[in-house]
Amino acid sequence: MYEKTNTCGKDATPSGLALLRDPALNRGTGFTEAERDKYNLRGFLPPHVHNQEEQAVRVLTRLRALTDPLEKFVALNALHDRNESLYFRVLCDNIDEMQPLVYTPTVGLACQKFGHIFQRPRGLFIGANDRGRIAQLLRNWPYQAGIIVVTDGERILGLGDLGANGMGIPVGKLSLYTACAGVHPQLCLPVTIDVGCNNTAMLEDPFYVGLRQRRLTGAAYDSLLDEFISAACEVFPGVTIQFEDFANHNAFRLLKKYRDRICTFNDDIQGTAAVALAGILSALRITGGKFTEQKLLFLGAGEAATGICDLVVSAMMAHGLPEAAARQRCWAVDSRGLVVKSRTDLAEHKLPYAHDHAPVGDFLSAIKTLKPTAIVGVAAVGGTFTQEVLEEMARINERPIVFALSNPTSKAECNAEEAYRWTKGRALFACGSPFDPVKFEGRTYVPRQGNNSYIFPGVGLGAIASRTRRITDEMFMGAAQTLAQLVTESDLAQGSLYPALPRIREVSAHIAAAVAETAYRCGLAGKPKPADVLADVRAQMFDPHY
Ligand code: NAD
Repeated sequence: MYEKTNTCGKDATPSGLALLRDPALNRGTGFTEAERDKYNLRGFLPPHVHNQEEQAVRVLTRLRALTDPLEKFVALNALHDRNESLYFRVLCDNIDEMQPLVYTPTVGLACQKFGHIFQRPRGLFIGANDRGRIAQLLRNWPYQAGIIVVTDGERILGLGDLGANGMGIPVGKLSLYTACAGVHPQLCLPVTIDVGCNNTAMLEDPFYVGLRQRRLTGAAYDSLLDEFISAACEVFPGVTIQFEDFANHNAFRLLKKYRDRICTFNDDIQGTAAVALAGILSALRITGGKFTEQKLLFLGAGEAATGICDLVVSAMMAHGLPEAAARQRCWAVDSRGLVVKSRTDLAEHKLPYAHDHAPVGDFLSAIKTLKPTAIVGVAAVGGTFTQEVLEEMARINERPIVFALSNPTSKAECNAEEAYRWTKGRALFACGSPFDPVKFEGRTYVPRQGNNSYIFPGVGLGAIASRTRRITDEMFMGAAQTLAQLVTESDLAQGSLYPALPRIREVSAHIAAAVAETAYRCGLAGKPKPADVLADVRAQMFDPHY
């Protein structure tokens, strides 16, 4: 039934132009004859009724005629602003094509140009000048938020400090929560905390949308974040808060500070970890190798690398390995060489993986010395998985695991073609950026992206469905296992370590159920366990089709 009800259950749907201007309710030319009568729409719409399917074809036709991804982004944004169900239908039905437009890589460009392409605000901007009134500001939001994605814009993708322009990230990410997992759009609240910006190009851009000041630091920064967290939990009880694109020096600290106090996670650290762990578990379905016998060597030792290491260690411990032995399975090379104990320049988050070992200066030498079963590229330095690196991995492993996860494509450690060619088709390859299938010596390999969007939407949905009070490592391990199990034999046969993206809603439902199961089992859920957890999760998924 098409209507919005008020708290007394009465039809509160606006009529006439007000209805056409409400993106949550507007159906444009899709309003039926009966709805046009009921809601006083006669005259505002051209006479012919186009059903939603026809409208979606029109949107796609127009979109595909555009050549510039940023123009496509703008067109999709405009659709989001005027007809939410149609926007999400287009996303859901064409997720392979749309995800790179509403999220990486296009969203990076959109953030850089945010002020230039700005049309309508979305989400909430909380500025350093809002100190003392954040709760009041959150109360302006017309819905009861179930999930907040928050950034301070300091480390947007691999692009650095974009300040308040970073708002494109929470907006895009929450679109994926809805498209990939059916989290209801009204439960989704994008937030940007504008603590200033240290990027001079932004501050000097006349169209920059943020405060013209340098970033807050220290106690001034922490107390603003604290006020936001307390206010969000007060105004939206039970809300899940996902941290996104905070710089290293705040991301680890904030996660540690809040993870045992509120329902929160950091996708750059924990979502990445789960998607990478899933890829490794899928690869082991092909090699038959034992998980606890894997040795991982990372290129990069930042949020992604540390997050993956931490979850791999937890998962190895769950498989019976002592913590110290599990840590010995994870090694990293950063810009100054192998992360080892004798180094005095290591940031705190690297210390658990600083092992007793002689210094090694470069990645290839580290491979030769350590003989890893898997290499994971997360340093955002393009071309670093060279021919020599890949040949060496193929020399020491029958089936080397090679994850080139850095984004965007220009930063990828190697492309898919190189991964297969230089390992003679033996690499078990996953990538951060999309690559086309590769033909090599008569076989076709279909590399798939180790994209966080396999994980975070399902985790968010599971958190909302079970009303969990915390998001734990065990939940991310469960998410990773579930994802790996959903990879089919025919996926594996073509070298795909992840399911096909069009299955994402099914994948997310299963991940949400796994997360919710953990919440019920661990006494973290905010409601009694339903008889059928998967059915309960599915019942809460928003379907944009009508
Ligand atoms: P980060 O800034 O936290 O970490 C980058 C790390 O790389 C730092 O430890 C830095 O010291 C190291 N580094 C820099 N130059 C190096 C060099 N020349 N050699 C070796 N190490 C070097 O960033 P992050 O969040 O960890 O992300 C890193 C990359 O991974 C980005 O490109 C990001 O897009 C990508 N990523 C991909 C996925 C995914 O595919 N699912 C998820 C998260 C991050």
